[in-house]
Amino acid sequence: MGEQRSAFQNSTGFFPTAHYFFGVRPLLESSTLFPMFQSMPKGAVLHIHTSSLGDTEFIIGNLTHRPNCYVLMITNSTTGATQYTLSYFLPGNQPDGFATCSDARAADPGFDGKVRGALEMSEATSPRNRTTDVLFPGFQLVFGRLAILKEPTAYYDYYYDGLVKLIQNGVQYVEIRTGISSLTAVNGTSYPPEFTLQVWSQLRQDLRNRYASIGFDLTLIASYDRARASSVVSQNLISAFKYKQQFPDLIIGFDLVNFEDPGHTTEYFSNVWIQHQALTQSTGVSLPFYFHDGESDQPNDTNVYDAILCSTRRIGHGFNLWHFPYLEQVAKQQQIAVEVCPLSNQILGYVADLRLHPAAGYFARGVPMVLSSDDPGIFGYVGMGYDYLAAYLAWGLSLKDVKSLVWNSLKYTALRDVNPTQLQSALGVLQTKWDAWITSMSNALAAQRAGKAAAASVPVVAHNK
Ligand SMILES: [Zn+2]
Repeated sequence: MGEQRSAFQNSTGFFPTAHYFFGVRPLLESSTLFPMFQSMPKGAVLHIHTSSLGDTEFIIGNLTHRPNCYVLMITNSTTGATQYTLSYFLPGNQPDGFATCSDARAADPGFDGKVRGALEMSEATSPRNRTTDVLFPGFQLVFGRLAILKEPTAYYDYYYDGLVKLIQNGVQYVEIRTGISSLTAVNGTSYPPEFTLQVWSQLRQDLRNRYASIGFDLTLIASYDRARASSVVSQNLISAFKYKQQFPDLIIGFDLVNFEDPGHTTEYFSNVWIQHQALTQSTGVSLPFYFHDGESDQPNDTNVYDAILCSTRRIGHGFNLWHFPYLEQVAKQQQIAVEVCPLSNQILGYVADLRLHPAAGYFARGVPMVLSSDDPGIFGYVGMGYDYLAAYLAWGLSLKDVKSLVWNSLKYTALRDVNPTQLQSALGVLQTKWDAWITSMSNALAAQRAGKAAAASVPVVAHNK
């Protein structure tokens, strides 16, 4: 693998991950390393969000072709940019301005590409010279265009498809951050959050049945908006405890998400965290924190302090943790893993050159960490291969280092608290998959060295189809 890395980097004449992902993505995909990382067993994904978990191509190629799918196209008179909002309505019930997707597609051969441009960030929509304060609001806008995912059948199908593609990419366990919101049928009938959790229970069971051979499982982290008032988050917390009692195996934790720097600090919600202690005692239910903190390049953003004070089980991002060496020590002592999302951090403007990502230092100093993809749907990719490849190249990792990150992804799941037996079983599955992958790689390399023409293609381990 090291030989492949040297050959790739020498052939490019520059350091690929020093550049913006969207610009070097074709180059990464053309390297012989890429299929290796795509086929590599990945263990778990511990930091990924609903509405951006799945494949945009499924939205465009499947969901927008369904009956009653409508689109609202609004062009900004100043910028000339057109926004595309997708939703389902019964004919005649659509609000003013909505057209059927079939009519819009018939009228414009470039419709699919334009919708893709509205649902994915790209070099065109998110140029590399933009900073976080511009990139993050543009990223947030995408979520508002996806009313189409409120329809229960589309909701189930989008996540089912997205999770199958993660499994095919070598993932065997996923912890998903979600707002647990209501759903709306095509006829306008609204279903409460408990219904949404029933959909997740069904989806979970269907995937567990289909992928029983790898012991696939998923759980949810109830995640609400840190931009909201303390009183709102207080109600969110009460709801999350209620859902946890109703779906005890499905929900594993609580978090606050959204653009961190302009949002409320974690300390701002201190009354809610005191309320959390009271709810834990009164209900007898454990709903630990998985705080999304330190997604900031500001040294005066001290949210990671409060996250650790509140006994967070992991830290989502922890990008600015390096400003606080004492907290790094605490994270090591208390085994609080940092969920590092390298490509997300670069795409959203927190770091331009991935060689300078602070996680390279975390890894070198032994801070517990896992790799994750955050919002791959909006970033235009599926799976974890890109993130592992980027980290491998940028941080000069060895195969042994990559293996430790893959193992960490399972080691720091909620399973360590709630089901150690399932964790041991999952680690056993991972070992078997890893051994098969290594054997496949070794055989291909040997064949390559022997000069066999067939060895020119890189091996692909078949994950469960
Ligand atoms: Zn996130």
